[in-house]
Amino acid sequence: MVQVCVAFGANLGDARATVLRAIQEVGALPATQLQIASSLYASAPHEAEGPEFVNAVAMYATDLPPVELLDALQNLENLAGRERPFPNAPRTLDLDIVFYGDLALETPRLTLPHPRWQERAFVLVPLLEISADKVPTDSLVSVADQPIRRIG
Ligand code: ADP
Ligand code: MG
Repeated sequence: MVQVCVAFGANLGDARATVLRAIQEVGALPATQLQIASSLYASAPHEAEGPEFVNAVAMYATDLPPVELLDALQNLENLAGRERPFPNAPRTLDLDIVFYGDLALETPRLTLPHPRWQERAFVLVPLLEISADKVPTDSLVSVADQPIRRIG
């Protein structure tokens, strides 16, 4: 099994409930188990629009190959009613693969690790809570201007 980190974000509808449900839904995918999930956080939109986001990250063990995992995550986004009217639009649910084991991949559909995760407080701060060894020390300094707070 491979250890993967998934980042959750939502800023439309009942964002808190959507993120909590999605954390469980990813753990219920075939050949996939939830290991640990962070608390929920609230963050101001960053490279996105609309109301405040609810964010979390979680670690899973999976035997799903990377693209199958992405397919499954996008299916869950669609089931949550996600629409893509324009880039960075508000979203009912955004599921990003932060990393997939140590795999480095660059294809049109999937880049691993996620190319911008170290620039995002909404990934780094929750990850610090559950897996501090994965968070490069300097990265937190560079996102210190991005407001984020734990909401439980
Ligand atoms: P955002 O960049 O705001 O997350 P989307 O969720 O619409 O926007 O994602 C855009 C595209 O990014 C997806 O269709 C997917 O193919 C691609 N993508 C590339 N790498 C990743 C990754 N590591 N995790 C999730 N999506 C990825
Ligand atoms: Mg996404």
